Amino acid sequence: MRRRALAAILCSLLAPMAFSLNTRALADPQQPRPQDVAKLAEMRQVHEAFKWFQSHERDLRKLQIEVTKIPAPPFGEANRALWVRDRFKEFGLYDIEIDKAGNVIGLSRGAKRKAPLIALTAHIDTVFPIDTVLDIKSDGDKLVGPGIGDNGAGLTGLFAIAQALKVSGVKHTAGILFVANVGEEGEGDLRGMRYLFQESKWADKIGATIVLDGAGVDSIVTEALGSKRFEITVRGPGGHSWADFGTPNPIVTLARAISRFSESQVPNDPKTSFNVGVIQGGTSVNSIPESATMRVDIRSASTTQIDALEKNLRDAVNNAVREVQDAKSRKGIVNADIKVIGERPAADLKPDSRAYAAVRAVDSHLDIRAQTRRASTDANIPLSLGKDAISVGAGGTGGGAHTIHEWYDPAGRDLGLKRILLTTLTLAGVGE
Ligand SMILES: [Zn+2]
Repeated sequence: MRRRALAAILCSLLAPMAFSLNTRALADPQQPRPQDVAKLAEMRQVHEAFKWFQSHERDLRKLQIEVTKIPAPPFGEANRALWVRDRFKEFGLYDIEIDKAGNVIGLSRGAKRKAPLIALTAHIDTVFPIDTVLDIKSDGDKLVGPGIGDNGAGLTGLFAIAQALKVSGVKHTAGILFVANVGEEGEGDLRGMRYLFQESKWADKIGATIVLDGAGVDSIVTEALGSKRFEITVRGPGGHSWADFGTPNPIVTLARAISRFSESQVPNDPKTSFNVGVIQGGTSVNSIPESATMRVDIRSASTTQIDALEKNLRDAVNNAVREVQDAKSRKGIVNADIKVIGERPAADLKPDSRAYAAVRAVDSHLDIRAQTRRASTDANIPLSLGKDAISVGAGGTGGGAHTIHEWYDPAGRDLGLKRILLTTLTLAGVGE
């Protein structure tokens, strides 16, 4: 069960953390309390929504399979976006659009037009290249195939909440903005969320954000793990291994840089890490290469630590170039190009976060024991702008994220959906 539990936020590296928000947030009388959630859960319309979740698992399963079968590699999400837009129409959302970034937006209107919106988001992109076979198989109740949980489960969560709101007729005070966003994975670099929160017409209208990512009900991501990624290319004149011996070698230069950089010391708290994940270069064993490239990932809960490691990396590369250059200066020059290919801001949820207090109150009501976690998710962007945001799973269980053996088990999905609905309505407020 532990392994399953850890699969909750599928596309992110997770780290357990000591978290002090809990008691502080719940001590504030203005914050949502379990008894408020209990009152909400007793409303007839909310009951209707719960019943809808239970009686429509087959429909949700079908939607999940269909959406997962549409390829959505990074920067290739358009077809899946069109399909999601049609579902948003079918489910009765308003103001539906695909924005300039490619995000699909739909609004469930609230009674108070001016109240800050609650954004409910799920990313539509996957890590899988366009030519990946997206064959979804059933293994008993389980579904198996690439992207079925990450983020087929999150998107299905959006579809379920939109339909249940409509069918049950729950009147909420603040509007609920449904967002199926692009660009969460890898090189996507959170561009969908950046656009939504920095440039779109909704940017100033959103209050709290709930991100649905993957399966599970066992964790709440409250702290945004920051990261910065680099592609470093060393170039030289190249040549023949015998005739041009002595010409500076880009692979050797890069190897020196890696050796130096990997000696960097990092703290355990705030946890900080680095990785050289890709190395490429050269053409044959008897050629001095003309270029060599590596990709480096730096992660930390602290921006200061990320900056310090970036300086180490740049120093290591520049020193390696200088050394190789000095040793072989008579036979041409090498130079290095350091390119930033990704940057995700580190940030913390504010201590008085209503979204956190709300999900805690809901978890207490539903008897869910969730752990708070630090991870890199779509919530990084609103958190880095000082906004309230959490990331949770969309119920059920799953595993094997980012592999073609990924699986999702919908058993208990309705508990996850109840949790999302109650948290959303607690934040939005409801009228009688
Ligand atoms: Zn994901």
